[in-house]
Amino acid sequence: MKPLIVANWKMNPQTYKEAEDLFQNILKHTKKASNVEIVLCPPFTWLTDFSHKNKSSILFGAQNVFFEEKGAYTGEISPHMLKSSKVDYVIVGHSERRKYFNETNDIINKKIKAILQAGLNPIFCIGENIDEDKQSVLEKQITEGLKSISRDQVKNLVIAYEPIWAIGTGNNCSINQTMSSILLIRKIISQLYTRELANNMKILYGGSVNSKNAAEYVKDAGTNGLLVGGASLHAEEFVNIVTSVS
Ligand code: PEP
Repeated sequence: MKPLIVANWKMNPQTYKEAEDLFQNILKHTKKASNVEIVLCPPFTWLTDFSHKNKSSILFGAQNVFFEEKGAYTGEISPHMLKSSKVDYVIVGHSERRKYFNETNDIINKKIKAILQAGLNPIFCIGENIDEDKQSVLEKQITEGLKSISRDQVKNLVIAYEPIWAIGTGNNCSINQTMSSILLIRKIISQLYTRELANNMKILYGGSVNSKNAAEYVKDAGTNGLLVGGASLHAEEFVNIVTSVS
């Protein structure tokens, strides 16, 4: 399984020119990274422009989507719109969306179903806060987020384990702690589905990843890749992350 490295640009950079430079620089310096799967998730304003221009093996992801198919939902974007715009992945359940946009496990479940029905791959973010019990938070997020999703559908889902206290803080999760969280997530998935499915599910780590700590998560912590926020806004740093896990 090739490691999957996902760049979440969030609401950055601020101009088309900066975004285009970042995209072109990443493109230029990752041409030889054939044993890593790279997914870029720029803001919607540039997503389809880049996805249509792209002739490389880089794939694209959206940072959000609505769960309805179409209609009078001003400002929203449907999974089918993404599918027809050369987008393959959608980030869902990110802690920033849970916190600032009140996304509940129920909303996240509706989004995951809609994403899967459209033939896209959800990147389902889960993670506990510093003062929360990890096991019960992860069990609740996974069980409610994946409610009524069949074994067949869930095969296309990627999980991103992102402890909230590690996101954007420079305080990345230790390798041992990450390893035990990944095992816990696989155990929860195997209880909901099968052990085989749990073992084959792609589980990423996210939270203050940089070019110095990236490789350990993939090589020693049992993850299948990384979700990178801040460091993905610097082409050189992001390329170094990709190279370090290759
Ligand atoms: C994220 O927000 O998904 C993330 C992992 O951010 P950062 O890498 O900046 O901690």
